Amino acid sequence: MKTLNGLLLAVVMTAAPAFQTIAAENSKDVYISIDSDALKFSQKTFKSRVQEISTQDGISILKIDEDALPWLSMLMHKNFNRCGGFMVHDDEADAMNLLHSQDGAQLFAKNNTFADYTINQEELVKPMVEQVKAENILANITKLSSFKNRYYKGEFGKQSAAYIKEMWSAIVKNRTDATVEYFPHSQWDQPSIILTLKGKSDDVIVLGGHQDSINGSFGGSSATAPGADDNASGISTITEVVRILTDNSYQPQKTIKFMAYAAEEVGLLGSKEISKSFKAANVNVIGVMQLDMTNFQGTKDLDIVMMTDYTNVQQNNFVGSIIDKYVPGIKWGFDKCGYGCSDHASWNAQGYPASMPFEAKMDDMNHNIHTAKDTLSVSGGNASHAAKFAKMALAYIVELDR
Ligand SMILES: [Zn+2]
Repeated sequence: MKTLNGLLLAVVMTAAPAFQTIAAENSKDVYISIDSDALKFSQKTFKSRVQEISTQDGISILKIDEDALPWLSMLMHKNFNRCGGFMVHDDEADAMNLLHSQDGAQLFAKNNTFADYTINQEELVKPMVEQVKAENILANITKLSSFKNRYYKGEFGKQSAAYIKEMWSAIVKNRTDATVEYFPHSQWDQPSIILTLKGKSDDVIVLGGHQDSINGSFGGSSATAPGADDNASGISTITEVVRILTDNSYQPQKTIKFMAYAAEEVGLLGSKEISKSFKAANVNVIGVMQLDMTNFQGTKDLDIVMMTDYTNVQQNNFVGSIIDKYVPGIKWGFDKCGYGCSDHASWNAQGYPASMPFEAKMDDMNHNIHTAKDTLSVSGGNASHAAKFAKMALAYIVELDR
């Protein structure tokens, strides 16, 4: 493993200086937030093309030219094995706002109580949880990971998005309260997809995951990136939840939105646009759950690991109680990403309560992600781990909804 990377890195490092000259001519600066342990690496790689603006609590704000982002994304995947790896901000103020995450929207999102976390819907939840079928999740992971890639730019990423929209539309075709829509993004090809089950109230519950995949080494829209775990598993887990709620003609009290975000791998771009538009429209989102990588049990004595950063304390504990009640025998715990490692961070940045239940501790996660080797075989060719997340997510929605 090391060797290959080393070799590739050598190629990139030798190419990087060329990049420094090429980019200088016509690129614009953008602001990103990144884990400070990647700061030195970025400065060494991009020299004058990157400038440290500020660092606090392990997070660094950098000014970097836009053309460097695909390189950085690739190097973050290669050298830090990070999903996403950094967050792109609109401007310096937006980036600094994240740094001061101990005040304003994030603090509010982290510590405030946004909903009634009573668990009292056993009669409704138990029979539905028992209907979760790992083979359904497996079938959808198999299909989604059969696309050459689901990259946010290019044909394959558009085709995979169309497939998800069709699949979700087929499941809810007989529901009069359901809509399945694209959320287009002007800066790239792949649209996000939002399935809405309209409830009696406009309070919103979001269950989402990113649909895009990436292969860390170059090739972008023509690279082989099956992304079976990252993140066909999350989308397939969400799909199973939609199927069961529909098969049981579940009538939501609140409005439930299922989301397949585009462009997570290159800076959480899709979820950022969506969460910002919800904030701007004053949508009252009472809870967000992110499912990103649910099908590799890397930590032997733990099944579900909730990230503590960029998430809501009360909702995390609520999810823990949900697991204890409705997914008996499953062990759960906590860990920290250290950076905005997935789309929950976009919602958190807008002051909304989010949770990110993950497949393993960060150090034990599936290290085949962002390569052509992120296939189902790594998870033993089954979806039994992801099925645990489907039960948890189903119970989370119904209990939060009532
Ligand atoms: Zn991911």
